[in-house]
Amino acid sequence: MGYAIAAPAQAVVPIDATSELFPVHRIYCVGRNYADHAKEMGFSGREPPFFFAKPADAVLAVAFGATGEMPYPGSTSNLHHEIELVVAIGRAGRDIAQADAAKHIWGYAVGLDMTRRDLQFALRDAGRPWDVAKGFDYSAPISPLKPIVSTGEIFSGAIWLEVNGQKRQSSDISKLMWNVNETIEHLSRYYTLVPGDLIFTGTPEGVGAVKAGDLMSGGIAGIGTLQVRVV
Ligand code: MN
Repeated sequence: MGYAIAAPAQAVVPIDATSELFPVHRIYCVGRNYADHAKEMGFSGREPPFFFAKPADAVLAVAFGATGEMPYPGSTSNLHHEIELVVAIGRAGRDIAQADAAKHIWGYAVGLDMTRRDLQFALRDAGRPWDVAKGFDYSAPISPLKPIVSTGEIFSGAIWLEVNGQKRQSSDISKLMWNVNETIEHLSRYYTLVPGDLIFTGTPEGVGAVKAGDLMSGGIAGIGTLQVRVV
């Protein structure tokens, strides 16, 4: 039996230093996972982690040293950058204990959880789903993946983002309220994680707006850099 229509293209993220590709199954995201970002969003304290998702084809893969182009989305006048550590899952599992979580990690990347902040706040205040604020086309720029066998487990390291050469976000992965292993433990209670899943682990403080023409340059120590121009 064939498909009635052409099958959609598989979303992929390149793997650093190889010609291999990582096929994307789902994109999960953690909300408010750095204390100082939770405060700037009007919250405080260490709540259990909560999750939202983006469609797999929201990825905008950008090679190291290249500049990606992200079209400014419609229906917003407050597009925000959120620089984040991304974890790629390479082994299936559910109800994964944090002590076992590393066995399920394939690798890491630098990502941007681009957000229509005006819509997110309006939807939040109305008690409505966030999807159109978070899961739109090109909303997940991402660097190539680096395998955990080359990086080791990442629990610390600088994370930063500049816009047009000016520092906007600067923190350290060690400040995650729920680290990668704890995040995998919580997320895998809700979903069976499978190879191909990506987890955007949350952004530090300093989020802000970008407009067409702006150049976002970010990075994470031990992984690399991600550069994207809004067009
Ligand atoms: Mn985020």
